[in-house]
Amino acid sequence: MLTFDEYQQRVIAAVRSLPPRTVDAADAPALLGLVMAESVRTRRALPGFTNSAMDGYAVRAADVRQATVDAPVSLPVAGDIPAGDTRTLRLEPGTAWRIMTGAPLPDGADAVVQVELTDGGLDRVAIREAVDAGRAIRHRGEDVEPGDEVLPAGTLLRPRHVPALISSGVGEVSIIPRPRVAIVSTGDELVPPGQDPGHGQVVDSNAPMLAALATECGFEVTAVRRVGDTAEEVRDVLTELAEHVELIVTSGGVSAGAFEPLKLAFEGGDSFDFVKVAMQPGKPQGFGKLGSATVFALPGNPVSSLVSFLVFVAPAGRVLAGRDPTVHTVEAAVAETWTSPPGRQQFARVVFDDDGRVVRPIGGQGSHVLGGLAGSQALAVVPADTTDVAVGETLHVIPLEGLA
Ligand code: AMP
Ligand code: MG
Repeated sequence: MLTFDEYQQRVIAAVRSLPPRTVDAADAPALLGLVMAESVRTRRALPGFTNSAMDGYAVRAADVRQATVDAPVSLPVAGDIPAGDTRTLRLEPGTAWRIMTGAPLPDGADAVVQVELTDGGLDRVAIREAVDAGRAIRHRGEDVEPGDEVLPAGTLLRPRHVPALISSGVGEVSIIPRPRVAIVSTGDELVPPGQDPGHGQVVDSNAPMLAALATECGFEVTAVRRVGDTAEEVRDVLTELAEHVELIVTSGGVSAGAFEPLKLAFEGGDSFDFVKVAMQPGKPQGFGKLGSATVFALPGNPVSSLVSFLVFVAPAGRVLAGRDPTVHTVEAAVAETWTSPPGRQQFARVVFDDDGRVVRPIGGQGSHVLGGLAGSQALAVVPADTTDVAVGETLHVIPLEGLA
């Protein structure tokens, strides 16, 4: 039996980041969650031209130096400069242009008086307050200059990075692609989602669940299959899928029964390992390579499948995607006791209480309990040597929301 940490480290160490690919930067929303393989340097200054930070009047600060509420300075208004005005304009001394936020500053102006400090006049404007040179002006290049690095290599693209990427003028960027994932559920008892199961049959809920998990992790699910419990079928389907994806995730057929198709297909070969891991749920695990594809053979009980995906498949998939494999955890105190099997690291379904500071167990902890799974908010990680989880004890907890 392997410890949980041993097995997790083994599967993470067995994968490498996928080779980078060049993609169109204009597709930025489709690149969310991807890692930049190379740094992005802007081709443009930002702002691209000196412009007004306020709606108001472009002036020379020297012309309004005497302005007060009691003795406003009156200037003739040369006209309007709206945002998007592409003319190159000049400000004559002793005059003003009415100017809008983001509009190009006329040559000769060195300040903008915000409209609230004026009478808002159209032909002439009365300015009620002196302003310093530079007031309410955004200078060309004050944010970034051409050649500046706007996104370092390794950046995980988030919505906040998109404006810098799009505005940089870079046509193409180098990214680590999403791992393509195939999901394969095994079991003669399975019927497709949407079909009523007969006696002895169950609806295949693992395939859709694993596909949902992979999608939430930012991977690309390209195939979802269901196969019966024969070694031939499993071998054929997996061999075919391995040519098209980087990651194959199977459910079922890895435990100690008489008809375990993953084991029958691959056990004893040198490309697969079937092991027992000191954890609950998720004790039987299979891991291997088929061609260039990495295969995770997860146990079929739905809760076991979910836990195994979160702690093994997701970290390995993140490595393929050039990301950090670490499983995100928070700390919470135990509000209600429960038991954990000796010598096994338990992943207990819990709900948060008291604003997330404490957790309590929910439902039965059997690995087949679907209702309890739906109602749970997190997995509390109980160390292998703990058998009675004590009230007040602090545990690491894996939230089940927001995996990406
Ligand atoms: P196995 O790991 O194949 O021995 O399956 C363990 C348990 O999980 C059995 O009760 C199966 O019926 C159930 N199971 C296996 N695969 C699925 C699936 N795709 N969807 C729902 N339940 C499943
Ligand atoms: Mg089975």
